Amino acid sequence: MSKSNRRKFLRQSVAAATGLMLPPMLIGCGPKKPAPETSAAPASAPGKENKLGIALLGLGSYAKGQIAPSLQHTQHCYLAGIVTGSPEKIPEWQQQYGVKDENVYSYDTMDELADNPDIDVVYIITPTATHRDFAVRAANAGKHVWCEKPMAMTPEDCQDIIDACQKNNVRLSIGYRMLHEPNTQAFIALSKKKAFGEFTAATSLAGYAGADPPTDYWRGQRAMGGGALYDMGVYTVNGLRYGTQMAPVAVREATQLRPTEVDVTTTYTLEYANGLVADGKTSVVEEMNKLRIEGASGWHEMDPMQPYAGVKGMTSDGTVLGPPIDGKQQTLQMDDDALAIMQKAPVLAPGDMGKADIAVIRAIIESAETGKRVAIMS
Ligand code: NDP
Repeated sequence: MSKSNRRKFLRQSVAAATGLMLPPMLIGCGPKKPAPETSAAPASAPGKENKLGIALLGLGSYAKGQIAPSLQHTQHCYLAGIVTGSPEKIPEWQQQYGVKDENVYSYDTMDELADNPDIDVVYIITPTATHRDFAVRAANAGKHVWCEKPMAMTPEDCQDIIDACQKNNVRLSIGYRMLHEPNTQAFIALSKKKAFGEFTAATSLAGYAGADPPTDYWRGQRAMGGGALYDMGVYTVNGLRYGTQMAPVAVREATQLRPTEVDVTTTYTLEYANGLVADGKTSVVEEMNKLRIEGASGWHEMDPMQPYAGVKGMTSDGTVLGPPIDGKQQTLQMDDDALAIMQKAPVLAPGDMGKADIAVIRAIIESAETGKRVAIMS
């Protein structure tokens, strides 16, 4: 296909995908400019230079506000391509980041990534309910997959992603940025060595004082993975995993406040095989942010536990776990994940971890809906 034909095809298929994939409020937003006939890429488009080429799939607020800017500071990977259902976003991204015409894809054309040696990794940053299909397609195109949290809607969907990556011999990482944050890593080191003795209690809280999510946006839609528990609660569930270094065996009880179809606040209690009990709470209408592990002789905690900057840890003996670090989490995350691919080393946030957290989330929902204790199948 000639370059100009390819551009025409790209525009047509992006338009088709937009109609298919996006809700009316997203179709309506932003100026409807057609993609330019000539490349908007500046002369100094980035090259490979022993770095992995990353294609961002889904150019929403997290991709635009955090991931693309963070990619400008990575050492081992760079922003090489985009996959989007919104053609009006393409010129700005090409201009700002020097993305080449041939590295721009729609959701219809993304399977052609298989033929593009510039792209090594597809980073999926779309609504949760879409992660499974996009991740499987990226893996089937032979690309490594980075998938945002929460990994998918169900453990079965998570397993499909894991299987597709294994079948295609590509690597998979979940976007759990806290696992790459240095103060959190110092906290995890204390958990691993049980610095304050056997754990006696654990609490995990993550929430913000927002408004009820609008029902015409995916965060307000149950089928799309909206609600506090999937979006913010996954931090509390993952935090308890790295804080206790254990997997829970059951949800003892849970409650969900659901003014519309999604929860705005969820509380839950987890049980562990050794008798430990942990309390979790998450909300999109209430501010809270703390992870605390109590031991026989003291405690260690992260407060706050998961903002983009200023994560801080301390212990009962007054130790502060390093100065709060400003805004490097995503850069560290992507460099760690790129190096793991290049060096064939283990990743910090594997698919099995993402899947185990989704199993906990499903058990919390079941417990809230039935009023019963729910065993967690992992
Ligand atoms: P946004 O709503 O801002 O953006 C989502 C983007 O996904 C859209 O702009 C669109 O991009 C694309 N998309 C593809 N299919 C659909 C669809 N059917 N409906 C709506 N959008 C679609 O969400 P966020 O960027 O805030 O969140 C995206 C993902 O990133 C979620 O999984 C979220 O949990 C995660 N996230 C992670 C954070 C972290 O700290 N790790 C922080 C924030 C979010 P396009 O127009 O290009 O097609």
